[in-house]
Amino acid sequence: MNDWSEFIKTQTGVINQKIAECKRGISDNPGTLDDELTARRRFELSLAALEESLIRIKQGTYSSCSCGGKISRERLVAMPTAKTCMTCNGSR
Ligand SMILES: [Zn+2]
Repeated sequence: MNDWSEFIKTQTGVINQKIAECKRGISDNPGTLDDELTARRRFELSLAALEESLIRIKQGTYSSCSCGGKISRERLVAMPTAKTCMTCNGSR
């Protein structure tokens, strides 16, 4: 499955766009600085998680859960940084 890295790169572009929007938001509306910073931090964490996903794609472990099961394609499309299969996620 090679197309996952393209998918993650697309997601990374979307998050970068949102961070840029946050930066614009700060200059437009200083009153919501705290909110903007919180949102930005969340996006930056998402970026870090996406980078980690790219590494896992290279290692070939991206769609594998630690239980040895597979993470479904649907789940990864909905949540590109998911590290667990539905079963493990539900039982946590
Ligand atoms: Zn699992």
